[in-house]
Amino acid sequence: MEFNDSMLMRREAEVNLSTESDKQWMTLHCGQCNTVVGDGLSICGELTPMDSIMCLKVTNDVAVSDEMEVHKGDMAQCIYSPLMCRCCHSTVGKVIHSLPARLAVSRSVFLLNKANISCYILNSSSMVKASTLTFDLKPLRDNMREVHQKFKTQYERMLRVKSRMSDRRAACGKVL
Ligand SMILES: [Zn+2]
Repeated sequence: MEFNDSMLMRREAEVNLSTESDKQWMTLHCGQCNTVVGDGLSICGELTPMDSIMCLKVTNDVAVSDEMEVHKGDMAQCIYSPLMCRCCHSTVGKVIHSLPARLAVSRSVFLLNKANISCYILNSSSMVKASTLTFDLKPLRDNMREVHQKFKTQYERMLRVKSRMSDRRAACGKVL
């Protein structure tokens, strides 16, 4: 066969999700029909034992099945409802109703099965399989530090603007 994997390999190598923003700027798609099922901003982590991406929300093209199923294997105590793609009716993940206390963090979130999901990375305009990516989040402390720094920068900018405005008013002889 003339076609070889080299092009695919190269394409995949170009996708380097080294920064958090790369992960945010992506859309999640049904692996079967490419319907958009979620976005990077909704991702809140990865549940490794279930090989799933944890999402705070999904699009309206995802339906929660009425059926309840019991997970087999490692997650035997877990009761869940499958998430279906409304367009092709394939299963794209699950919503957990009951699970062991050690995994309680993943209750009330949508778990998208990495094997059934593709990701479109906006920065590199590439579609890759979710199974080739990791969705671990930075520790909360790092995120807090980042937010604190952004807030500080914004506050200092506001102070500078305020001081410039006072100077201008003073120059016009309209001191408050
Ligand atoms: Zn689909």
